[in-house]
Amino acid sequence: MNYITVHDKTFQPFIYEAEIQIAVSKIGERIAQDYAGKHPLFIGVLNGAFMFCSDLLKSVDVPCEVTFVRLSSYDGITSTGEVRSIVSLQEDIEGRDVILVEDIVDTGLTMQKAMASLSELKPSSLEIASLLVKPDCLQCELDIKYKGFEIPEKFVVGYGLDYDGLGRNFKDIYQLKQE
Ligand code: 5GP
Repeated sequence: MNYITVHDKTFQPFIYEAEIQIAVSKIGERIAQDYAGKHPLFIGVLNGAFMFCSDLLKSVDVPCEVTFVRLSSYDGITSTGEVRSIVSLQEDIEGRDVILVEDIVDTGLTMQKAMASLSELKPSSLEIASLLVKPDCLQCELDIKYKGFEIPEKFVVGYGLDYDGLGRNFKDIYQLKQE
């Protein structure tokens, strides 16, 4: 097995690039069907979702726009439960069809807070696309319309996801090595 080391931790391969690309294309094609005749605005959540957002848009065959926000509730490998909004949205989203693009939903608190803030700006529709979801960790009700993979409660890196700033550049997704 091709283990990788990021900072002080060892990770093992979990989801390979080919599987990721298939899942991402399927989400993009579904979105293209659901938004036919519309002009959606994708809001990518930085930093983790930059790679997913970039690949996703390549499969969305309808006119669309993209922008980014930065929200954070993670410190190292654990969720703090407290969401800090760091970069706020510049675009006017009133009356727009908005899709929030996230790398991974863990407790769901980040997405819950983002959805609440965005709803106040009166978009005509608002959905979530998340590449990964950890259903066992969810601490709130969240309707995630578009998801790539449901995964167990394990910390993962790669494909945009980091461990203290490193690991985002791997094409595959890795999980903490089993002891
Ligand atoms: P939540 O608010 O749902 O607990 O956390 C969402 C954010 O936590 C994600 O955007 C991501 O930045 C981070 N996160 C949650 N789980 C993981 C994980 O397994 N690996 C990494 N690298 N980040 C995670």
